[in-house]
Amino acid sequence: MIKQITAKTLLSSSKKPDPWFGIKYTMNLYRGCQHQCIYCDSRSECYRIENFAEIHVKTNALDLLRRELARKRVKGTIGTGSMNDPYMQVEAEWNMTGRALAIIAERGFPVHIITKSNLVLRDVETLREINRVYAAVSFTITTTDDALCRKIEPGASLASQRFAAMRALADDGIYTGVTMMPILPFLEDNAENILAIVERARDAGAGYIIAAFGMTMRDRQRAYFYDKLDHLFPGVRAQYERRYGERYSCPVPNAARLEKIFRERCAQLGIATRMHPYQPETQLRFTTI
Ligand code: SF4
Repeated sequence: MIKQITAKTLLSSSKKPDPWFGIKYTMNLYRGCQHQCIYCDSRSECYRIENFAEIHVKTNALDLLRRELARKRVKGTIGTGSMNDPYMQVEAEWNMTGRALAIIAERGFPVHIITKSNLVLRDVETLREINRVYAAVSFTITTTDDALCRKIEPGASLASQRFAAMRALADDGIYTGVTMMPILPFLEDNAENILAIVERARDAGAGYIIAAFGMTMRDRQRAYFYDKLDHLFPGVRAQYERRYGERYSCPVPNAARLEKIFRERCAQLGIATRMHPYQPETQLRFTTI
């Protein structure tokens, strides 16, 4: 279900850019997410989203963006939010992200996008324009197995489609890579999967892979995830319960070994394990391979 709402403000700012992606301003054009990943943290009670499958479109977001950017003195990186994907299905109709990027291009701000959708390719021309300053696109990919992907991220593009989109962006000179998180315990935490992601990422022109070997779990998020495990992967829930109980932090059992394998392979293939955020002082540019 899609609801139209108005917001009072759009951009939230942080004093210091975040250390992973260099994001200074965060922009959420939607609330709720149609990708419906079974592990999504946004279902946790602390976020107070009662119906995560209900999508809210902030219909005045573009006016707010125009107004708020005009007042910003620091041209920091704008990130495309959390708790929703800027390129979920509703974006194909509403084009909120696409139109927001056009405003950002006009104003000369840098951008970092995280998505699980190949719809981002629709905006490649605008991204090219933004890339005169800086544009980076990270694709979250945690398995190369499209069948597994369909089960755990039912609304998102398949992993193979995300790799193809990454290749297209890299060919266009856009800095792109992988956020490989969360690696789900007992489902994705094997060396074959990790090495396959690294190799497919290299072939797709990734400049970086940022990894996290495990997940976090809270209240409603855990309940939803366990229900899905029962349905999709019978028997796996018991492994989670035995290993993690009610814990928030749930690293994969073989995290140290997997991380070593991951880092060694990235080093061999020349892929960074951190991304290079926008650096306003030097205007350093990074390209993909
Ligand atoms: S794409 Fe992100 S916000 Fe959307 S359901 Fe998946 S994990 Fe949650």
